[in-house]
Amino acid sequence: MFHVKHETDFDVVVIGGGHAGVDAAHVAARMGVRTALVTLKKSDLGVMSCNPAIGGLGKGHLVREIDALDGLMGRVADASGIQFRLLNRKKGPAVQGPRTQADRKLYCNAMQAEISATPNLSVIEGEVVDLTMTGQSVEGVMLADGTTISSGKVILTSGTFLRGKILIGDVSYPAGRMGDDPSIRLADRVRDFGLQIGRLKTGTPPRLDGRTINWDILEQQPADKDPVMFSFLSTGPQARQISCGITHTNTQTHDIIRENLEKSAMYGGHIESVGPRYCPSIEDKVVRFSDKASHQVFLEPEGLDVSTVYPNGISTSLPEDIQLAYVHSMAGLEKVSVIQPGYAIEYDFVDPRSLKSSLELCDINNLYLAGQINGTTGYEEAAAQGVVAGINAARAVRGLESYTFRRQDCYIGVMIDDLITQGVTEPYRMFTSRAEYRLSLRADNADQRLTSIGSDLGCVGADRASKFQAKLDKLDKAKVALGSLSFSSRELAGVGARVNVDGPRRTGLESLSLPDVTVKSLTVLSPNLASVSHETSLQVERDALYSNYLVRQEIEAKTLGKDENRLIPSGFEYDALQGLSSELKDKLRRVRPETIAQAARIQGMTPAALTLVLTHLRRQELKRSA
Ligand code: FAD
Repeated sequence: MFHVKHETDFDVVVIGGGHAGVDAAHVAARMGVRTALVTLKKSDLGVMSCNPAIGGLGKGHLVREIDALDGLMGRVADASGIQFRLLNRKKGPAVQGPRTQADRKLYCNAMQAEISATPNLSVIEGEVVDLTMTGQSVEGVMLADGTTISSGKVILTSGTFLRGKILIGDVSYPAGRMGDDPSIRLADRVRDFGLQIGRLKTGTPPRLDGRTINWDILEQQPADKDPVMFSFLSTGPQARQISCGITHTNTQTHDIIRENLEKSAMYGGHIESVGPRYCPSIEDKVVRFSDKASHQVFLEPEGLDVSTVYPNGISTSLPEDIQLAYVHSMAGLEKVSVIQPGYAIEYDFVDPRSLKSSLELCDINNLYLAGQINGTTGYEEAAAQGVVAGINAARAVRGLESYTFRRQDCYIGVMIDDLITQGVTEPYRMFTSRAEYRLSLRADNADQRLTSIGSDLGCVGADRASKFQAKLDKLDKAKVALGSLSFSSRELAGVGARVNVDGPRRTGLESLSLPDVTVKSLTVLSPNLASVSHETSLQVERDALYSNYLVRQEIEAKTLGKDENRLIPSGFEYDALQGLSSELKDKLRRVRPETIAQAARIQGMTPAALTLVLTHLRRQELKRSA
């Protein structure tokens, strides 16, 4: 059905082989449509423009979701990870974020191996300079050498390359990123569409020569002893695990930066666009947090057999000599050589409010956008959008309706909904606080939330589908067994549960939501549970831990529905609300919602937080009427 007439005729063409591009092309090809990935250089596939790391808080959730849909990023990160760490390990599973530092070269090699082994997928080296159109419908792309490639659907994932401009101090020049030309002709073409185009910026730190760092005096941060992988199919790291070093900025560093602020591209008036508030440059940190005498800097090796080190936390657009001076002021870096200077980059992005939830443009048929071009920042955000655009382009080729990922099902849905309804005022990155349903959207259960959806969409391969089914069968069996058991509170206290001995009887599953109760501890009361594997036990425990909260979350959501028109007085004191995060208090103070419904629409608002507001409102009303 998807017959290729010649090598310039495809069902889906993806422009750009960055993080959005590879996952978009891979999923479209997985879904059986003839796909071409056109990128400036074949060696682009999997290039990390900035930090050599994947995952983290919120971002790690996205990688797990990409993996649950059988995407590439998770397993490629597992193949190249050199320092796996589970962030927030001591907190609950809902806010834990898997992260790894990656060996850049291994990451690219693994990505290229995945792409070249994918049936239905051709990689074409070239610069796309134009889109061929009939009326308002895109029908293909034109390369700089004049070749035209026809395609039913086109996915544009050009990252920071559209009219990209590098800035270091008062020096600036056009570039897509360090070492690459920008895309100017394609940027002109996109501007011709009459879309809302804006400029954003981001920055990167200088790269250091690890052979000139005095590692002996630095604190070390080792990898986790029990590494947590991204892919539900991975069993352990493939590369040697390493430590990274930790140093700190100090008052001398801050003085050097403060004295030279006007020479920074960002502070000297050379950049007007907005950068990521949550990944501030070192100039930003020194100005915004002027009361802090020191900031931590992680020295992350970029690979196992290279000397380049990425100093995480000091991105900058100061002139090179000032960069060298402030770097030399830090412990362990007194004699360090800089391999590549830090720089800022400014680029065009398209207002994501011009997109549908499929990531197709509302006003241009057959053209999908994914990644940094939509105002996001980060590899993970880009790859997740690539998956969405790839799935929907492939579905459209088959004449199927687009699929909308919902906020209540996944962080992918949260991100797409945020982008297309609210747009961006700064580069958008994922945080767990953006999700209302973060107790159910955990990294550990991404497969339980998404793999069946992916199977229905046709993007999950047979191997993953059968392994997932086997896992579900084991989970169901264990939950049925636990649900049929019943323990008195005295019995539970006897195996270490912190529980009132006069309390009610509980099923095995209910018992698991008590502190300090595990499947293993219940085995003392019911020896048959010994047959439940360690892995299955852990997942049942995580699910049980949150089940009470989830029931409460549902009840709260229903109750709130009845009160959505309740008015919130203008002088409402959010500071007085105990249990409300300072981030939400801040947002509520700024937005000053007039009704509960309006408060509910604030990004990151949870049913639990709204219930707090509502309870406080009711109390105040009672006081007034008393
Ligand atoms: P990219 O990874 O940029 O890939 C774009 C691809 O499109 C490239 O392969 C390119 O060759 C190709 N391409 C472009 N134009 C054409 C064309 N006309 N024809 C064919 N191919 C084309 N992220 C963070 O999370 N935190 C940070 O602090 C951070 N700092 C950054 C600093 C710098 C200097 C840069 C450059 C990026 C930074 N990033 C950061 C962003 C991160 O690199 C991107 O978010 C991510 O790479 C975006 O993925 P993407 O797929 O959208 O685009």
